Amino acid sequence: MLTLETPIVELAGHGLPRVGRKTAEQLATEIAALQGRLDPAGATVEDLLHYLPMRYEDRSNLTRIAQLSEGLEASVEVVVRVGGLIPVKGGRLKLYEFWASDGESQIRAFWWNQIYLQRVFQRETRVILFGQWRWNRYKGVYEVENPDYEILPPGPSPSQGVLEEPEGEAIHTARRVPVYRKLGEFRTRQLRSIVYHLLAHLPTPIEENLPGDLVARCGLPGRDQALREIHFPGEGGTIEDYNQSASDAHRRLIFEEFFWLAIALGIRREDRVREPKGERIELTERVREAVHAILPFALTAAQRRVVGEIVANMAGDEPMNRLLQGDVGSGKTIVALQAMVVAIENGYQTALMAPTEILAEQHARTITRLVEDRPYQVALLTGSLRAKERREILAGLEGGEIDLVVGTHALIQDGVNFSKLGLVVIDEQHRFGVLQRAEIRRRGLNPDVLVMTATPIPRSLAMTIYGDLDVSVIDELPPGRTPVRTVVRGDDRRDRIYGFIGDQLTLGRQAYVVYPIIEESEKLDLRNATEMYHHLQRDIFPTFRLGLLHGKLKSAEKEEVMRAFVRHELDLLVATTVIEVGVDVPNASVMLIEHAERFGLSQLHQLRGRVGRGAAESYCILLTQDVKTKVAQARLQVMEETNDGFRIAEKDLELRGPGELMGTRQSGIPTFRIAQLVRDRSLLETAQREAQFYLTERTLTRETCQMVERVRRDPRYGLVRVG
Ligand code: ADP
Ligand code: MG
Repeated sequence: MLTLETPIVELAGHGLPRVGRKTAEQLATEIAALQGRLDPAGATVEDLLHYLPMRYEDRSNLTRIAQLSEGLEASVEVVVRVGGLIPVKGGRLKLYEFWASDGESQIRAFWWNQIYLQRVFQRETRVILFGQWRWNRYKGVYEVENPDYEILPPGPSPSQGVLEEPEGEAIHTARRVPVYRKLGEFRTRQLRSIVYHLLAHLPTPIEENLPGDLVARCGLPGRDQALREIHFPGEGGTIEDYNQSASDAHRRLIFEEFFWLAIALGIRREDRVREPKGERIELTERVREAVHAILPFALTAAQRRVVGEIVANMAGDEPMNRLLQGDVGSGKTIVALQAMVVAIENGYQTALMAPTEILAEQHARTITRLVEDRPYQVALLTGSLRAKERREILAGLEGGEIDLVVGTHALIQDGVNFSKLGLVVIDEQHRFGVLQRAEIRRRGLNPDVLVMTATPIPRSLAMTIYGDLDVSVIDELPPGRTPVRTVVRGDDRRDRIYGFIGDQLTLGRQAYVVYPIIEESEKLDLRNATEMYHHLQRDIFPTFRLGLLHGKLKSAEKEEVMRAFVRHELDLLVATTVIEVGVDVPNASVMLIEHAERFGLSQLHQLRGRVGRGAAESYCILLTQDVKTKVAQARLQVMEETNDGFRIAEKDLELRGPGELMGTRQSGIPTFRIAQLVRDRSLLETAQREAQFYLTERTLTRETCQMVERVRRDPRYGLVRVG
């Protein structure tokens, strides 16, 4: 029997038209990929049904040919009279056309390069066409280009009453229809058909998964109705509601997403409170002195406040689980280091985890310099160590000689054991999953955890997303920074921009040129980093030293390039977004971002944070091909207007939803499939209130236990117990 749990790869045996093994497998692969999963076997019918239409069209009104007008979008039912292929442009293009009639008038329909259509339509085929109708004054008929079509079973000829209900139910026309974003090779028409038959084959009703009184109390439709209507809207509600994700069906599914997340966060919080605190931290005078001894400069007021919050938390009875949030350049590193010194002075080991080797190295360098005069053992553990070095460091960690270790994910691999790990700092945590966090905690004595991020998550959002984390915010930049001047420019200014960059390089500054991808894609006419690197070196900046940095380089090669740039052995770095996080080269004063419209605002902000780190005036140039589209322009203008990461994040949130903002899947928080935090915040509040109700007032009831079980089993919430 077909159910929501049926794996998509097994769809083939269930009698869906034109869904064979190969199609099922392709579909499963696409859906799994959307969710960031590698294994297609895990993708289920439920996941497929959560691939929602990007919009809806109302094709419900059948129109007679005589009622058509220029430009009207309408469904028309006709019978094919005569059709055939017509070569165009000396045969390089083929056009298939047919003429058809509704018994009163004629129309013409045509498609480009779809030769197979000559076998689809025969004389006397009954078909509903949907598209935009145009008057062809040469031919004297209405015609439609590339219409959507629906072949009807042979029936009464149009002259005998074409407007009666077609016998088989229409899927693509003569109703409100979903329009899907292309999914791999699957186009909207095929997806519509698959989803339609899938829904028809699922048992009725699709099982409800929320308590009945909850659904009623919140005025939501049942799950069955919601899942069906979100794909094929019924008569209720307006098509605008559907298009704005505000239909009852949408509200129900949005509510569900929030509700399950709220339950998951509630569970996580409870789990945490039950864990015993492993270490004892005290703030003696000696510790205070040690913390001050490492300071190379006066802290800002915000840094001081935040250090206070962190240290108080460490000295408390519950394990620390804190998010340290601060815009790029706000000085999180020194704050983290002070916390680490507190732990070390209390006799514990500490670990700092960075997302890349470059960053781990940079941190290790900075920290080694800062604690030069202290008796601390500092080590760097990355994946590219020689076996011997690695063995030594592992021994030092296990024996407790190493006080502070900086590393990449190599820190949480098997074989890494600490003697008395007291504090773990995770830099740029949106790169790490909750599971990894759990993993590193398992390696120590349930240490304090401090997670640092430059992603400026609005506080309200942070509470929702990281419901189990406390939050500290550094909302002030160190003194003496000049804001980066940002401009949005079109391609017509390219030469002048190159001229400007050349001037900066001549002044002894360094520059970045950033591209969204690295390889030429047939579909996207992007200037790729590799090609542009050669072009820039050869034709534009022949007298300067250029470097190329992209994700496909081996990490040792990346390090080499980055190191050369840091040492000013390179003037200009052509790069993909691998430079995004944390790289600190104060002499770099210009950043040119190509295809800026392809980046999220928060990502642009992160990139921009690589310049303006020194005293010199700095510039960020956002180059875009489509300054013409309003949305793209409005988005990019935000970057011109403000350097405030929080405002940018709010804007990003409005425009794109939290998935992008959080760095999608890696945040350990499932990406919302439909919900948008800003738009849907009232549903969010309701869902949180309801979840709270079940977790506190109804703790031991069967329904609550079932809900908790369900969330624990779902890998998306990261509550699956590891070990
Ligand atoms: P981020 O928060 O982006 O990780 P960093 O910790 O790398 O920022 O700090 C950015 C730069 O600012 C570093 O060069 C650091 O030494 C410097 N810095 C941090 N705090 C202060 C301060 N209070 N006064 C002066 N410079 C500071
Ligand atoms: Mg940093």
